[in-house]
Amino acid sequence: MDYEKLAELIFPDIKGTVEDLEQRFPERDLPAEAKVTRFAPSPTGYMHIGGLYAAMISRKLARQSGGVFYLRIEDTDKKREVEDGVSEIINALKKFGLEFDEGPFAGGETVYAPYKQSERKEIYQICVKALMKKGLAYPCFETAEELDAIRKRQEEAKVDIGYYGEYAAARNLTYEEIEANIKAGMPYVVRLKSPGTPGQYIRYTDPIRGNIDMPENIMDVVLLKSDGIPTYHFAHAVDDHFMRTNLVIRGDEWLASYPLHKQLFELCGFEPPEYVHISPIMKAEGNGKRKLSKRKDPEAAVGFYLEEGYPSESVLEYLMTIANSNYEEWHAAHPDKAMDDFVLSLSKMPVSGALFDMIKLNDVSKEMISSFTTEQCYEKILVWAKEYNQKLYQFAAARKDDFIKTIELWKMAGSKARKDVAKWSDLTEMFGYLYVPEGELELDYEIDEKYSSSQMAEIIREYQKDMFLDSDNWFGQMKEMGEKLGYCPNVKEYKKHPEGFRGSITDVCTVVRVAVTGKKNSPDLFTIMSVIGKDRTEARLKRFLEQIQE
Ligand code: GLU
Repeated sequence: MDYEKLAELIFPDIKGTVEDLEQRFPERDLPAEAKVTRFAPSPTGYMHIGGLYAAMISRKLARQSGGVFYLRIEDTDKKREVEDGVSEIINALKKFGLEFDEGPFAGGETVYAPYKQSERKEIYQICVKALMKKGLAYPCFETAEELDAIRKRQEEAKVDIGYYGEYAAARNLTYEEIEANIKAGMPYVVRLKSPGTPGQYIRYTDPIRGNIDMPENIMDVVLLKSDGIPTYHFAHAVDDHFMRTNLVIRGDEWLASYPLHKQLFELCGFEPPEYVHISPIMKAEGNGKRKLSKRKDPEAAVGFYLEEGYPSESVLEYLMTIANSNYEEWHAAHPDKAMDDFVLSLSKMPVSGALFDMIKLNDVSKEMISSFTTEQCYEKILVWAKEYNQKLYQFAAARKDDFIKTIELWKMAGSKARKDVAKWSDLTEMFGYLYVPEGELELDYEIDEKYSSSQMAEIIREYQKDMFLDSDNWFGQMKEMGEKLGYCPNVKEYKKHPEGFRGSITDVCTVVRVAVTGKKNSPDLFTIMSVIGKDRTEARLKRFLEQIQE
């Protein structure tokens, strides 16, 4: 077979050469240790938390080595693509502060562009044409039914399933047969003619998993589909070579493809990058664990964390503790340092599935939020609420001073710092009495059984006369009011002589607290009332009275 002639028959319009591409996409001028990494999602609009994890690790390894982290869109599968899928991914990563050095966005285009596979068709075809000229690729006209028949034969013979060796009939087509098929308009794919030997093993050394022996690739995989678009495997080899990636960090579902990828690089004459296969993020279930599933687990989607209002810093820090278990120790030893100062080590990454624990994330996030200043919280809440909670946003934007007071309330800056809030949606969940508009506020009163309705009503009626909101000694006034009703103003004294009183100042405050907030426990009650204002406080007292008298 004259392979030159075959290549011209199949690719008459492709004039460029691999050498041209080598010049067009020169090696990067970077120090030897610099890592060029990438995030290569398909534009399905859905981003899995595992994708964020991989992106964070890839970016970190590039950054800490003075390299480059870029975004490549793997849009060769048009069926799975959704509108705005690309911008959704870029926006999600931006919200987590994971910006790219290069990619398909304004300011991100460099000599290595285009960064979308759908715009690189000619580049792939140049490379396939070069393989065909070397007799390493051929057109295959087999129909789905014919491929099915091959599969059946293989199943019966109990041999490997696939298009290879003696089963790859299209390997033996003559030039004339191919030409006739093409003239007849028969659709075809272009396959690799794999030089792999059955039973031959190759050794792969993964920085996380160590040595793995795997059978060499023997399959004549599809390089170009019938529309001339490459398969993922081939596009990966071409793109990572010409974008000069030297470290590929990807999910371990790709581990089994390593022998094929290695072979593709070698046959194309490209130096393979270093590969790292990271374990998936798992969820505990029963006594075991399983992969976080897009279908079953809302927390599998990155959008979940954004909607719930987890600060991006919390999610990234938690993912970092999963990536390197020594991160926590480092963080405790260097509380003033930023996560960017931590050196991530591949050898310390988990080998089997990394467990994602929501409780742990919440703890990390509570710590994180408590380390933010009030002003930082305000800014972050504003950004979150603008997108996910309009009513909270309106309050925060229109009444900044009051809003700041609410933050100080639950942070309790100055005295004992509280660590209640893990995510911004907790604000309306836990402190609805501060944040939910009056008409929509449902107060589920936590009434202590030790108080009778008439006793509570008496306290509230008395309190309604003057709520002391203008006083600079609210608590003193409350004590006086309580004393008039027979409640001891001094808790210690009350404990010594409970028989002499109806209760203590604590009981008086608890009843008012429940009336105003619905809860037995809350941050400083006076501040809560100052923030919600006189009218709303009065309305709540009235509502409470109606409730307990029903
Ligand atoms: N587009 C592939 C995916 O979404 C990327 C795999 C890789 O990083 O090489 O799974």
